[in-house]
Amino acid sequence: MTAEAPEPSIFSRIAAREIPAAIVAETERVIAFDDIAPQAPVHVIVTPKTSEYRNVAELAAGDPGLLAELVDVANQVAARRAGGEFRLVFNTGESAGQTVFHVHAHVLGGRLGEGTLG
Ligand code: 5GP
Repeated sequence: MTAEAPEPSIFSRIAAREIPAAIVAETERVIAFDDIAPQAPVHVIVTPKTSEYRNVAELAAGDPGLLAELVDVANQVAARRAGGEFRLVFNTGESAGQTVFHVHAHVLGGRLGEGTLG
């Protein structure tokens, strides 16, 4: 018996243009789009187009070059949309608020609200 292929994640489906999103940047392996429920004036998701890594720890161990590319795209988006000043968040695990288990960074910019980190 062969294992069934896992369902493509919502972010893979956005990268494949199966689900619409406001795409703000793209490279061969990385895509960035506006978060559907923004928590800051600028709130962009930056993610690999394919979903073999569930979180940033897996990505760092499995493909550090892809992690560097993702951070570079985040920086470019923030330069264009938020004057180069931004917060980069990788929620890792359910208790940390992760809901989509396809590694992604939140680029948060603009005037950020008061919070435990700010
Ligand atoms: P997490 O909670 O896993 O760190 O972040 C998932 C993020 O993806 C959330 O901020 C959520 O608003 C966003 N999101 C979930 N589904 C969609 C979607 O279909 N389109 C877009 N643009 N963002 C989504």
